[in-house]
This record gives sequence, C-alpha cells and structure tokens, in this order.
Amino acid sequence: MDSSHPSQQQPETRLVTSGRDTKAQKGFVNPPVFHGSTVLYPTAEDLHAHRGEFTYGRHGSPTTKAFQETLMALEGPQCVGVGIVPSGLSAISTTLLSVLKTGDHILVVDNIYRPSRNFCNGMLARFGVETTYFDPLIGTGIDKLFKPNTRAVLVEAPGSQSFEMPDIRAIAEVAHARGALVIDDNTWATPLFHRSLDQGVDISMQAATKYIGGHSDIMFGTISANAKTWPMVAEGIRLLGVCAGPDDVFLALRGLRTLSVRLAQHHRSGLEMARWLASRPEVARVLHPGLESDPGHAIWKRDFTGASGLFSIVLKPAPQQAVDTMLNTLKLFGMGFSWGGFESLAIPFDCDAYRTATKWSPGGPTLRLHIGLENTDDLKADLDRGFAALKAAM
Ligand SMILES: *Cc1c(COP(=O)(O)O)cnc(C)c1O
Repeated sequence: MDSSHPSQQQPETRLVTSGRDTKAQKGFVNPPVFHGSTVLYPTAEDLHAHRGEFTYGRHGSPTTKAFQETLMALEGPQCVGVGIVPSGLSAISTTLLSVLKTGDHILVVDNIYRPSRNFCNGMLARFGVETTYFDPLIGTGIDKLFKPNTRAVLVEAPGSQSFEMPDIRAIAEVAHARGALVIDDNTWATPLFHRSLDQGVDISMQAATKYIGGHSDIMFGTISANAKTWPMVAEGIRLLGVCAGPDDVFLALRGLRTLSVRLAQHHRSGLEMARWLASRPEVARVLHPGLESDPGHAIWKRDFTGASGLFSIVLKPAPQQAVDTMLNTLKLFGMGFSWGGFESLAIPFDCDAYRTATKWSPGGPTLRLHIGLENTDDLKADLDRGFAALKAAM
C-alpha cells in the first residue's frame, strides 16, 4: 500500500495533506487568500473559448479549490464535487432548488433544523413543491409515504435538538427503490465521523459555520455530491449565483486542517459530560446517541465513528424562571445558537412548538448543551453552581 497517495491515507492524514500545491505557492504551506472578481484571459482565443482553470471570481479561485479538494478527500470516493455557499442554510436551500421542480413532493424528517423546515414551508410551497414530514424513527416504514412524484428525502442524523437517530441506510434503500434522492444535513457528525455518501446518501451538506470553521467566526456552507447529483448541484450553484467570501473560505480550510483533533476532544469531553449529567439527580434524561442507554445508540455505533460535542438534557420538572436563574448563573456555558466552536453553550429549546408528524413530550425543561474545549472539571464545576442556583430558585 502506497501511503503517499491520498486515497490510501486515513482521514486525519487526508485532512492535512489534501488540497496543497506547495510549488504553486512558492514553497508556502497554505494558499493565499485570493480576493478577486475579474480573471484576465491571456489571449482573445482563450477569452472566446472561456479557457482557463479560473474564469470568474464567483466560479472559484485557488483558495476555494484547496478547500474543495480537502473536503472531497475527507468525504471519500463517492464524492465527485463540493459546492461552496455562503451559509449552512444556503447549502440546504441551494440543494433543494437544484434538484426539485414545481409539482414535486419531498419527504422531510420531523427533527430537521427548523430554518430548513421554514424554507420548505415557505419558498418551496410557494413554488409548488409539497412537503410531508415523517417520524425520525420511521425506518423502512417510510415506504408508505412515497407518492409517484416524490423526488427526494431530506434527513438529519441525529436531529440537532432532540437527538433521535434516523436509520439513514434503511431510508436510503427505500428511497432509491422508489427512484428518489437522499439528502443529508451532516453538520452534527461532519464527514469525519459520518461518511454519509458511503451509506446511500446522494448529497451531504454541512453548515461549515459549525465544526469545520470551528472557531465561531465564519458563516459558510458546503454541498458534497455524488456522480448522480453533482451536475444538478453544480448547475444550481451557477444559476443561483451563490459563492462565499475568500476570507471565510480560507478560515474554513484552516478549520479542516485541525478538525480531527478538535472533534476527538469534543467527542471525549461530550461523552464524559453526558455520563456525568446522567448521574445528576436534577437530570431526568440525557439525549446523546453515544450513550449505551440511548435509543439511537445501535444506529450510531453502526454508522458513525464518533460523536461531536452537541447533545441535550431533560431536567426534572422545574419552573421556567428557575431554569433561567440556572442559565444566568453559568459562566463557562454561554447562551447562543450557533455551535461547533471552541466554547461551551447552553440553550433552552422546545421542539413541540414546531414538530408536526410526531409529538415530542420530554416531561420537563430541555436544554441543549455544546461541550467546548474547556477542561471538563471546570465545566462540571460551572454546572454544579448552575444546579445549586436552580434548586435555590424552586
Ligand atoms: C446551524 C445549522 C444550519 C445552518 O447553518 P448556518 O451556517 O447558520 O446557515 C443547518 N443545519 C444544521 C443542523 C445547523 O445546526
């Protein structure tokens, strides 16, 4: 085995070696940040033929190429193209607009990221695409929801609030038998921990704003597509005119280089905190597919090679104002929505406010936690203070 060839390397190595062109960069390890709109053609003949590796700022630069090559190497052999868009939500909207047309029907998992649901119910509905939401635990039972015009199934595993784990392999098998595409929002695990394109998914999307960026300082989205879907995605990106700012592309590439060490730590610290929380008297339930007791554990073990740092807890019944007091007491856990950075977060959520296919009744206040890169003893001490404030406020 020739370990100098990227296809023979382990993912951690590919993240470091891919997308590098030292010679073109005059010896420097990293590509420069190409700020550019105009690309000049050397001759009139080149101009007429649109000849050249780069032709227009919106269509890519050496900076975007380095990022795309690195993410493609991580996604694996099924990936034939990576689209770059300005946000995770743009990855979702661009993908759906690229593959759907008026009169189509789409099946969407009920624990989908809420703004994705808003896009389906808003713009897709306006353009005459019908959406049906389905139970995340439906498995092969999804077969009965297909219609003759069902074009795609949109999944997310696990859902980023309630953490139910859809069986993507089973869903993909049914969808492909029905001639439909499978689209996965793979933001939670990233392709490092979940190679969804190898497991029947046709298009795998990332809110690279989260773990790929990894430092809470960019908005960025990616669309990884297989041979069947890349032509549609590439055309959609071109027609819609989406692209991303060069500084964000550069920071996302920088994030990819260290993704493996950051995610390994999020995995370890996340599981340690989840186990610690499961033993706390204030906590009724921990929703983390990496825990042996979690209903999604078997699927997680089969399909994923790790867990990131995001999971939820259900507290024993407590008034909202006591939970607010707890949140106000926490010093290391900040209150904010976008996760995947180096810092820990805690935020209340209520899936029941928007789910439609399934009722979600947790039986107590719910908090979503992101376990950052802080020392876990410090995080436990912070939560200890928070729980003490919760009890005192009841
Ligand atoms: C944050 C998030 C998105 C949207 O990403 P933005 O970059 O904020 O637009 C999409 N899906 C999931 C699962 C997310 O957590």
